[in-house]
Amino acid sequence: MSQYDYDLFTIGGGSGGVRAARFAGQAGARVGLAEKGDLGGTCVNVGCIPKKLMSYSAHFHEDFADAAGYGWTLHGQPTFDWSALIANKDREIAHLNDIYQRLLDGANVSLHRGFATVEDAHTVSVEGKRFTARHILVATGGHPDKPQIPGSELGITSDDFFHLKGLPKRAVVLGGGYIAVELASILNGLGTEVTLVYRRERLLRNMDADLGIHLADEMAKKGIRLVFDASIAAIEAPHAGEDSVKQVRLTNGETLAAECVLFATGRTPNTRGLGLEKAGVTLKDNGAVVVNEQFESSVASILAVGDVIDRVALTPVALAEAMVVVARLFGKGERVMSYRNIPTAVFSHPNVGTVGLTEEQARREHGEVKIFRTDFKPLKNTLSRNTERTFMKLVVDSRTDRVLGVHMVGSDAGEVIQGFAVALQCGATKAQFDSTIGIHPTSAEEFVTMRTPVA
Ligand code: NDP
Repeated sequence: MSQYDYDLFTIGGGSGGVRAARFAGQAGARVGLAEKGDLGGTCVNVGCIPKKLMSYSAHFHEDFADAAGYGWTLHGQPTFDWSALIANKDREIAHLNDIYQRLLDGANVSLHRGFATVEDAHTVSVEGKRFTARHILVATGGHPDKPQIPGSELGITSDDFFHLKGLPKRAVVLGGGYIAVELASILNGLGTEVTLVYRRERLLRNMDADLGIHLADEMAKKGIRLVFDASIAAIEAPHAGEDSVKQVRLTNGETLAAECVLFATGRTPNTRGLGLEKAGVTLKDNGAVVVNEQFESSVASILAVGDVIDRVALTPVALAEAMVVVARLFGKGERVMSYRNIPTAVFSHPNVGTVGLTEEQARREHGEVKIFRTDFKPLKNTLSRNTERTFMKLVVDSRTDRVLGVHMVGSDAGEVIQGFAVALQCGATKAQFDSTIGIHPTSAEEFVTMRTPVA
């Protein structure tokens, strides 16, 4: 009999935690998992899933307008009911919470509801109950930050956004990353007057430069006002309620009035109060757990995956990290985590999809590169007279002909890029792209028909 209560105790029931617990349980390990909130973590409850459902909702606005060019007449003005959307979204999320519970039950994982703290290298305490474990996995995720500015308590974060009681008439969104452009697009599509304020001059600055530039043009065409090289200096309002009109003072001297001020200014790992430092675990300045290639912290029996290690804050990455941990602890241990060629999509309107190196990175790492670029009106936007244009770009190593980066702004960019990510993983060359037959008529076929480099 083992000297421990569990082989693995996972703290956090989000993407990474549930994945590790499930697969460890299925491999025959005795697994405990602590979760203080709803199962599914950020992705299921206040991230990917509700965001994408709301993005679908926001797209209808344009679909109704597009329909006329295709011969449809809508009798009466379509109207939007925020509370119906939120209630339906909440019902779907409750369903997903149940599925997560069933997955854990099916893998014989013991679920402990409550906030867990780490007492030492092999002991966890959940609401006063102590458990010992051979391995402890910290998968506690992160939370959105608010910048330290006067009146920041009057603003909300993405966590609050999903539970607003009503659709705001006017919103100011601060930030230029994933969450800022996604939530600004959703609000704009649903009918809110949106101003996006960003302290630099290019959205999505960690991606290929052309993506942020094209996206900004398209967002502006849809009616979002973009204010670059500025930030929020202070917010004032008579009270903090959702309905109160806030005066938003910008650093460029402008003042905006809005019911909603949304901070999309980054996320911080959830390690506060977990007792990790006391147990000897080294944390970064922002609270992230420092781990090695095997996801072990400075205390080898305490591991960590997902947003809490602050490497790449994406659900599929947390899942992959969890699988590496389970394979090592309870399997053959052959898996290693690679952070190259991670495809990602931003569900702004239009969507952004990207995999591989940006042009800038490719020039730095590979020297001479060829750039193929196209910008066109997709077929669907002809009859509708929708002015949205699609952008695509390939970055190719001139020496080896390997495709290093595939980038897109346009409808369903995430769906398109997923397949090209496989090609990049296989080391596909531009010649192989060229010899691939296109699917006609699609937008994606442009990726295999671009022949003349622009740079
Ligand atoms: P990001 O790091 O992507 O963006 C944060 C933005 O806020 C940046 O533009 C940053 O500016 C700006 N900012 C930071 N601090 C301040 C400040 N004090 N004042 C003004 N602006 C500030 O974070 P997000 O919150 O958008 O998202 C967090 C992570 O979650 C993402 O990086 C991604 O990994 C993940 N995510 C993934 C999604 C998806 O897969 N579709 C969707 C949503 C989130 P600057 O550029 O100057 O640093």
